[in-house]
Amino acid sequence: GRHLVWFRTDLRVHDNPALYHAMTTAQSQAQQVLAVYFVTPEQWRQHGLGERKIRLMQNAVHNLKQALAERGVELLVLHAGTFNHSLQLLQQLVLELDIRHISFNNEYEVNECKRDILCYRWANIHQVNVHRFHDQCLIPPGAVLTKTNLPFKVYSPFRKAWLAQAERQLSAPLPSPAALQQPSSTTSTTWQQILTEPLRRALTLTDQCPDARWFDDESSAHHALHNFLQQQGRHYHQRRDFPALDATSQLSTALSLGLLSPRQCLFAASQANQGLLAGGTAGLDSWINELTWREFYRHLLVACPDLCKHQAFKPETERVKWRDAEADFQAWCDGRTGYPIVDAAQQQLLTTGWMHNRLRMVSAMFLSKHLLIDWRRGEAFFNQYLVDADLASNNGGWQWSASTGADGVPYFRIFNPTTQSQRFDADGQFLIRYLPQLTSLPATSRHQPNAFERQQTGYPDAIVDHAFARQRALNAFKALKQEN
Ligand code: FAD
Repeated sequence: GRHLVWFRTDLRVHDNPALYHAMTTAQSQAQQVLAVYFVTPEQWRQHGLGERKIRLMQNAVHNLKQALAERGVELLVLHAGTFNHSLQLLQQLVLELDIRHISFNNEYEVNECKRDILCYRWANIHQVNVHRFHDQCLIPPGAVLTKTNLPFKVYSPFRKAWLAQAERQLSAPLPSPAALQQPSSTTSTTWQQILTEPLRRALTLTDQCPDARWFDDESSAHHALHNFLQQQGRHYHQRRDFPALDATSQLSTALSLGLLSPRQCLFAASQANQGLLAGGTAGLDSWINELTWREFYRHLLVACPDLCKHQAFKPETERVKWRDAEADFQAWCDGRTGYPIVDAAQQQLLTTGWMHNRLRMVSAMFLSKHLLIDWRRGEAFFNQYLVDADLASNNGGWQWSASTGADGVPYFRIFNPTTQSQRFDADGQFLIRYLPQLTSLPATSRHQPNAFERQQTGYPDAIVDHAFARQRALNAFKALKQEN
């Protein structure tokens, strides 16, 4: 019997528990290991995933195939379309190739969980062993609970409980398993055919990311992690909020593809931080804290599966009367709101596939508060254009910004985009990177050009007045209380 490793958002050979388990067991029993990855474009589109992310995933799979081949494991890349069809192919594969063990790392979104449960049931009936592992969080979702055994709904107490466990449990990442003595090969041409041609046809991608510089291989991601920790980590807390400085790790894409595991990041960060997750240097403490946010949103997704179904975390906010304002929405999408910081942020997203965290908050708040447009539309837009698109973090970030989510602060958190711009991009260096037409203006004018300067530079008028929009948002949320 063979072992099968089913890859999904864990496209790496180092610190991959499912792969490690399968290869070390197979090694000791002189058995073969085969790996599979299902390409499911219909499913991804249904989930709103954009083409740039899909393209990056495909490149990462290609690189993984080589890394596995070097270790004696053949990766079959099968075109399945949907999750349902991937299960059918999996079953066929298992029966035809005499597979006795299936290993995979868990995914936590609702459709992914359903798929895995179906796989598990089928395997049980056919006496195939399924080995499931956790790799997406340092501490598995469901394992960080309050004193009364409930999931945390607020970040700060979560962080405290998470830290206490993480400090005990953080261990060195798993190495890449040694190459197998018995390399695998399917030799079956049927399987080879399912793979390449239809796959190419199904993936005629047109949305090219003009400024793509994202890694699609594991070793580049490692270099970036170590470079960041050595060079930038210490200054992270002071520099992380200034988009012009490029002072964050930009590792979110690698994490979202699984080129890196959170354990690898946290272990390396703690090593650089005197062996500590908190209480070391301010810079690294703060970086580790951001990774903890990532864990929090994943835990929250598992505790509230409705988050996967477009529902607000705070149910009462479902009654907010969002505006149906197509022209405003389009102006936001294209970066034509007349608020330079919002427009530059949107340009960064459109041209690079990534946006700085401070700007994600500013832009998301502008759409949901200033324009009073349903946060779900913004979430979907980000999901389509971000190369680090991730349901848990994206949904968490949007709901936090729209005040429909897990946030200790009440609804009146409304950033003033101009003040944010003055504080975090004082000389307008970030603004002119994406809005070169503002370069001729003095730095202080770039945040909010006057009528004459707008005319001179061709920069559009603001689509809404800040004070007016702020009051409108306050009223919309106040109305919820009055209805109660
Ligand atoms: P760094 O500052 O170097 O942080 C290190 C890592 O910590 C990141 O790579 C990321 O994995 C994690 N992280 C940092 N900040 C957060 C946060 N606020 N929430 C959760 N995890 C965090 N992140 C995504 O990975 N995918 C998304 O789709 C996504 N959508 C977002 C939407 C909105 C509206 C907001 C406000 C935030 C969103 N974030 C998302 C979180 C955050 O903005 C990005 O993770 C971060 O900007 C990535 O840049 P970095 O890798 O340089 O982060």
